[in-house]
Amino acid sequence: MADIGTDSSGVIKVMPETLANKIAAGEVVQRPASVAKELIENSIDAGARQIDLIVKSAGSELIQVVDDGCGMSKEDALTCFKRHATSKIRDIGDLERIATLGFRGEALASIASVAHVELRTKQPDAASATRVRLEGGEVVAFEPVAATNGTSIAVRNLFYNVPARRNFLKTPATELRHLLDTFSFLALANPSVGFRFIQDDEVVHQLPALKQMQPASAQKKRIGDLLGEAYASRSYRVDETTSYLSLSGYIGHADFHRKSRGEQFLFVNGRYVKSRYLEHAITSAYEGLLPEGTFPFFTLFLQLDPRHIDVNVHPTKAEIKFDDERGIYAFVRSVIRRGIGSAHLIPEIKPGSDSAFSAPSSFMPSGFQREDTGDGARLGSDQSRPLSLGGSPASIPLGELAERMYGPLPSQRSFDVDGAGSEGQAAPKEDYLLWQLHERYILTPIKSGLMVLDQNAAHERILYERAVESMGSGLGLAQQLLFPHTMEWNAGDYEVLKSILGDLRSLGFDIELFSGRSVVIRGVPAEIRAGDERTILRDIVDQYKDFKDRLQLKGRENVAKSLARRSAIRPGTRLSPKEMRALIDQLFDCEMPYACPLGRPTLIKIPIEELDKRFGR
Ligand code: ADP
Ligand code: MG
Repeated sequence: MADIGTDSSGVIKVMPETLANKIAAGEVVQRPASVAKELIENSIDAGARQIDLIVKSAGSELIQVVDDGCGMSKEDALTCFKRHATSKIRDIGDLERIATLGFRGEALASIASVAHVELRTKQPDAASATRVRLEGGEVVAFEPVAATNGTSIAVRNLFYNVPARRNFLKTPATELRHLLDTFSFLALANPSVGFRFIQDDEVVHQLPALKQMQPASAQKKRIGDLLGEAYASRSYRVDETTSYLSLSGYIGHADFHRKSRGEQFLFVNGRYVKSRYLEHAITSAYEGLLPEGTFPFFTLFLQLDPRHIDVNVHPTKAEIKFDDERGIYAFVRSVIRRGIGSAHLIPEIKPGSDSAFSAPSSFMPSGFQREDTGDGARLGSDQSRPLSLGGSPASIPLGELAERMYGPLPSQRSFDVDGAGSEGQAAPKEDYLLWQLHERYILTPIKSGLMVLDQNAAHERILYERAVESMGSGLGLAQQLLFPHTMEWNAGDYEVLKSILGDLRSLGFDIELFSGRSVVIRGVPAEIRAGDERTILRDIVDQYKDFKDRLQLKGRENVAKSLARRSAIRPGTRLSPKEMRALIDQLFDCEMPYACPLGRPTLIKIPIEELDKRFGR
């Protein structure tokens, strides 16, 4: 029998711990911001009420976190730098939860292995504090010192012994942006903790601890303190809970769009995540309300059983996967959509609000002026032709979609104008009463009071969604003219027309361009208003130019909005009860029934309580 016990030629050696840590650091610590994240999370875990992040030279010189948390004992001040040293896992049940949060006791060991680290820590009831200094993971000092309660960890010369990584760091501006992002999401997720960000001896952020506040108000205040007042005041609150998951937080008004995605903060079970998928769910809920190339602001917290999160995703990456992605997508989208939709209603229905009968200007996209009749004069009010009430868009209502995917959700109510409580009733009942007021508003009783519909805004919404659909499918129906029209165009307009010709054709315009800037119209979309086809085409081009200059709308979105704008029934058009009914039905078939393509409300709701109040009941 071979003697294997004493063979000394084995090649497998246990790695020295410092080397193992250095290798692990490659995964855990990518840049100064990852250090800041680990340290701040530890401070939060330690119950800190105040956390300061101090950086110098974008973190390459110093990243320091000072907290007033529980501190560590003398022994722990050493042990915490050992790999897999953690005070946070008590039983195996914790493991799954912890696994989604961090590095299972790897962070401090990893950081210490690639930097110069100094720890000062004191427990409140301890006589003295402890100071530990490490270089490349080796302890070089360990002594009692005087210090205040809590913990301070200073990380200097990050990656000093990993030149490849140090050289890999991006410009100071980029690293600083990452540090600020990290600081921001941690501060947003923990409004009850005070935070300061000190950069090269300058206080960049000072965020007071918001202790005695309702979580929702604290969140809003923190958003304002961190990002600026506008972010807080131009946001809607969303809050939806089901037995499966809950979603709460703030989403920006459609007209408070941003030029980049940088201001989108999503947290899953308290942890900041990046999810292209959920970002898309949220952004798509704004469909038709945001100019192309802009993004909504949001700070959203999703809570769900960690068992539904795929933990196989690399723990250091902020990406996340769910077991039921489609279900979550549908849920998130419908909650956001409802948030946007009800926000268009809420300012009107809030009892006690003095502006109950006027649309708050906050919905107006920048540069948008209310002009119900502004361009109406030119078009006249002779649209006596019945509305074309052809087939409704084939889209599946969101609530139904979400339901199909994973059972009934409260978010089905997103299409229930009558507010929470009534069951799945999208629009008023079959034989509802309708009343046209001043040839511009449609009034109808609903369960909770009175609904007032803006006929022009509603029709714009309907036409817009159909236009988008026709352009998507390229199957816009043309109505051929008996006598083709020929028109001459000026150079500028001709160029615009040329640039949108493809989209116009897919809408159903049958147009041909000839030399000498002459244009022949042989057919127009079946859906659009009756009238001189030449005027219609010119109107759309004019509107397109106007939207382009004023709102920076581009391409198809602009074409669809221009068409909707110029062909919708105007204020001053009398509607038969049948037409009114058709308008309402079609509106509630829309993906986004509550706002016109530019974000103005299509309808408001006046609750009976509001009327009671005004009558002094
Ligand atoms: P983990 O956070 O996964 O436990 P770390 O390496 O980040 O792993 O930290 C190791 C341990 O050090 C923690 O479990 C905690 O006990 C202690 N510790 C780290 N930072 C602090 C702090 N700021 N205050 C008190 N204890 C801390
Ligand atoms: Mg940690």
